[in-house]
Amino acid sequence: MRPTPPPVEASPCQKCGACCAYDASWPRFWTDTDEAIALIPPNLVTEDATAMACDGDRCRALAGIVGEAVSCTIYSRRPEVCRACEPGDEACNMAREHYGLDPIEI
Ligand code: SF4
Ligand code: SF4
Repeated sequence: MRPTPPPVEASPCQKCGACCAYDASWPRFWTDTDEAIALIPPNLVTEDATAMACDGDRCRALAGIVGEAVSCTIYSRRPEVCRACEPGDEACNMAREHYGLDPIEI
């Protein structure tokens, strides 16, 4: 008989997405290489290729409803800035507050 694995705790990000829809100036490319940026569909990147394209404040790669259920449609290719944002850090909780979501305590 196989032991039952412990339940995998879902990331709070899957029910949030606030930092992906907080400010169009946030998902900018930092240290991303040209090769990495080229892997992102061109319609999701600004014309000058310096950032993710946004509709208003919302990153165009974000799918779903902020505060309910979301996903990043380019998750494995998302830029460095997106990998740096951690649940419960200052930017995270600022974005969550903007959307009326409770802060994450770490
Ligand atoms: S604001 Fe925080 S919890 Fe929400 S998606 Fe961003 S990192 Fe995750
Ligand atoms: S690329 Fe993905 S993780 Fe980054 S801001 Fe857009 S939706 Fe969020």
